[in-house]
Amino acid sequence: MLKELVLLKEMQALDTRIIRLKTLIDNTPAAMNEYGRSFKDSQDERQKKDTDLDKALRQKREFEQAAADKSEKIKKLRSKSADIKTNKEYQLHLKEVEQLEKEVRLIEDDILIVMEQIEEFEKTSSVANKKFEKEQVKYHEAVSVVKKDQDDAEKELDVLLKQRGELAKTIPKDVYNRYMHILERKNALAVVAAKDELCHGCFLNMPPQLFAEVMKGEKINTCPQCGRMLYFEPETP
Ligand SMILES: [Zn+2]
Repeated sequence: MLKELVLLKEMQALDTRIIRLKTLIDNTPAAMNEYGRSFKDSQDERQKKDTDLDKALRQKREFEQAAADKSEKIKKLRSKSADIKTNKEYQLHLKEVEQLEKEVRLIEDDILIVMEQIEEFEKTSSVANKKFEKEQVKYHEAVSVVKKDQDDAEKELDVLLKQRGELAKTIPKDVYNRYMHILERKNALAVVAAKDELCHGCFLNMPPQLFAEVMKGEKINTCPQCGRMLYFEPETP
């Protein structure tokens, strides 16, 4: 095979890998966001459930305080009952105590309702907390994998770019320019195999004459359909 074609084939292999690494690096922030989304969702959900629970607990304390205040009032009223002089006053006194007792019972009903809510919220909050912890571990694991992939890709890219620079020096300028011209226009694929009489860039069935020339490998032949440079690759047995 023509020496230049061998070099171009090497260059194409390097460029294909370089492009893959660059894409991986470019996609890293998006990949992190993707993993971060379900973690963030679980965090929001946990916060919401904790807030529900806190609210219900606060509500219970407020009810209990209100009931205690009213009970205290009843106690005070009762302690004063000996001072009552008239029947009218006594009736009023009884009515007041009764009213307060009724209010205390209503508050106690509310407390029972809020206690049921608390029980429910404790369950959902515990579920949300467990989910959050799981997501947190998953997220940190995923991020460290993505970061490591990114680091590895950057290291490899550095090496390959140096190799590419060295390789480029060994290719005649006009050949290199032709290669770059095709690379930029043909989906980053300038040098492809001709195998089984097919161009492996566009899968054109090649004219036999052209295929024979590619097989000889004495010059740089291009595909009549896609314009890519061709090198011969033997059929897979
Ligand atoms: Zn082609």
